[in-house]
Amino acid sequence: MEELEALRRAGAIASQVRKRVIGLVKPGVKLIDICEKVEQWIRELGGEPAFPCNVDVDHVAAHYTSPIDDETRVPEDSLVKVDIGVHVEGYIADTAVTICLNPELEYLVEAAEEALEEGIAAIRAGVRASEVGAAIEEAMKRLGARPIRNLTGHKVSRYTLHAGSVIPNVSSMLERHRLEIGEVYAVEPFSVPREADGVVVDGPPSNIYIYRKKRSVGGLAKRMLRHIQAEYRTLPFASRWVLKAFPGMEGLEAFEQLLRIGCLYSYPQLLERSHAPVAQAEHTVIVTEDGCEVTTA
Ligand code: MN
Ligand code: MN
Repeated sequence: MEELEALRRAGAIASQVRKRVIGLVKPGVKLIDICEKVEQWIRELGGEPAFPCNVDVDHVAAHYTSPIDDETRVPEDSLVKVDIGVHVEGYIADTAVTICLNPELEYLVEAAEEALEEGIAAIRAGVRASEVGAAIEEAMKRLGARPIRNLTGHKVSRYTLHAGSVIPNVSSMLERHRLEIGEVYAVEPFSVPREADGVVVDGPPSNIYIYRKKRSVGGLAKRMLRHIQAEYRTLPFASRWVLKAFPGMEGLEAFEQLLRIGCLYSYPQLLERSHAPVAQAEHTVIVTEDGCEVTTA
């Protein structure tokens, strides 16, 4: 399949799944049911998850997926972010939506959505990433919110979710690189109330992992590592997925061994430092001469 066709197909699947998941997020629903439905829908539509479905509640800004036996449920009055990744032959779409179960926090969702729209409107070949960040920051402020300043959008390439260059969510002097025709970026503003810190810090493990390096292991751990490399390559995966393929105590022990000897990297959850509620919006775009094509619209 041609690159552009695969990017568009991944985007269309991600978009459909994002629209469908909104109806699923209600108080009392298990987070694992949201994760597994999203991943099932992606596969049914002909894609593969580019990363485990993230369901991030309230001050958890990013990087939570359910462990295999998760009993956590959607709380009343919460702010729930669902972040969805799809790949088709390694070509990635990354998109997110926030479901607001507390009317008082609706303005945070509007701020993230509007900031995303204005950030995307600023994109064209030759524009500096910092100019896109400035548009995002301005929209947030106008709507009574502020962006989380140490979370950014990111360049995407084949089988690589975070491919180096970033798009900041603030007017950052550090990000003066220019966007180029044909580059693929995920744009993802995160909003918090004006009085919040607007910074994330590392929290507990996310249950999301990525292959890091080869080490000599034997037995089941060796087979597990081969499976991980064949199935997920350089993309993040869930412990849930691996433990389903290698069930029981032996599977769990082999997974812990791979972690212990450094074959796998464990992502932490990213928590808003002042424990403020966080909303997020995200689309994936392809940069064109005079604008961009949103693949996940
Ligand atoms: Mn995302
Ligand atoms: Mn992203």
